[in-house]
Amino acid sequence: MYLRITVLIFFAVLLFLMGVEKFMSIREQRFSEKYWEQTEEVQSGDTQTDDTGKQTEDGISGQLQGENSQETVAAGGSGDEGITHIRSCSDQWNLILVNPWNAIPADYQVELEQLSGGQAVDARCYPILQQMMDDCRSAGLDPVICSSWRSREKQETLIANKEYRLIQAGVSEKDAAVEAAKTVAAPGTSEHELGLALDIVDSSYPELETEQEDTPVQKWLMENSWKYGFVLRYPSDKSALTGIIYEPWHYRYVGVEAAKVMYKEKLCLEEYLEKYG
Ligand SMILES: [Zn+2]
Repeated sequence: MYLRITVLIFFAVLLFLMGVEKFMSIREQRFSEKYWEQTEEVQSGDTQTDDTGKQTEDGISGQLQGENSQETVAAGGSGDEGITHIRSCSDQWNLILVNPWNAIPADYQVELEQLSGGQAVDARCYPILQQMMDDCRSAGLDPVICSSWRSREKQETLIANKEYRLIQAGVSEKDAAVEAAKTVAAPGTSEHELGLALDIVDSSYPELETEQEDTPVQKWLMENSWKYGFVLRYPSDKSALTGIIYEPWHYRYVGVEAAKVMYKEKLCLEEYLEKYG
């Protein structure tokens, strides 16, 4: 009798412990996934396809948060029937075109200026960027640069990470490579590699999400950034031309003259270059 009770208690305790173990491991996994997503979204940034086949430049897209992706040329073309994508047509450094159809020249060199927080930009746009940030802060706001220049190696790492995550999720190595290539931009096609692109968020809402557009910092930047030569690079209605979905946090330096025209005429860089380039 006692033996039976002892055995039953033993198994009950064992089952309980197994349950606790399982619960803890699920919780830990969820936490680590969430942490990964947050660091990728805010610190790394990259590009991702959304439901429409467009990509994001900075690693978020609706429910697909946490994925690293930048689109390939082929993926960027989906849904773009009838659109002729222009080829880079300016030799001015501030107007260089980088998108899924125009890669950065292999020999492209950039002299960087370090910012606080480990960020860096092309030294030529540094003073005016500083001015813009200072003026934004003087308006009582708190902008935060969460992504700036990105090395080629970083881009390659993003692809490797994407493949790794797919394999971890049960996808075969071969399929993972194919899948990653569909959603992660080839190194050389991210504007961040130029050192002329910045992801700027409001400290009160440091998320790379569409809702970022409602923050005081974005409202100020969208109204004023052109005066400093920066444009909101991926407007909501230009995805077919840019190949990137709406990103109300990604700014690109194009110079004051071009930014003014692009702002006044509501042109994205592709349209500006086609018209004036
Ligand atoms: Zn960006």
